[in-house]
Amino acid sequence: MKVSRRNFLWISGAAITASLAVKLGFSSEEATGVAVGPIDLKVKYAETSTTICPFCGVGCSILCYVEDGQLVGTEGDPDSPINEGSLCSKGSALFNMAFVYDENGEIQPNPQRITQVLYRAPYASDWEVKDWDWALETIADRIKQTRDATFETTDSNGVTVNRSTGLAWLGSAMCNNEENYLFHKFAKSLGIINIDHCARL
Ligand code: SF4
Repeated sequence: MKVSRRNFLWISGAAITASLAVKLGFSSEEATGVAVGPIDLKVKYAETSTTICPFCGVGCSILCYVEDGQLVGTEGDPDSPINEGSLCSKGSALFNMAFVYDENGEIQPNPQRITQVLYRAPYASDWEVKDWDWALETIADRIKQTRDATFETTDSNGVTVNRSTGLAWLGSAMCNNEENYLFHKFAKSLGIINIDHCARL
């Protein structure tokens, strides 16, 4: 049997519990109230895949447990050289971005999750629900208008600069190197020189 970091912890805990119970003269069930053995985890029959935590640039790896097409849990990936199974409070709460457990222990969609485009017009106080086509077309229109209005081919000394100072680009810690490379290329093709990222990468 290959002993991983995770089952090493379980084996150690089970062995210590059994040893103490015997020394005290109790059966392990009497001592602990439960039979010593593998805990019946809710992710026991789930398929596992990995993802990267979306919250910051550390890039912690997270195991996602999926059962019958339903995400049933997430936890730190012990095989990741970045986080070695640990997660901070934000990464630990990743599951709750999409789902919560109700009082009966059933998984429910998180009612606070925003699942549609919300738009608040300038000077408006309320949000309007919009569809994705509207959102993408509006963003594209505004990028073009701003670029057309602010693009500079030369600076005040006559030096060729070809830059668009009215636009800025913010990357995402959720993206991998290849995606960020493409985003960077796209932003540069628009002449954007103000490019940043939540983790300053
Ligand atoms: S788990 Fe915490 S430290 Fe790791 S990437 Fe997510 S937010 Fe950053």
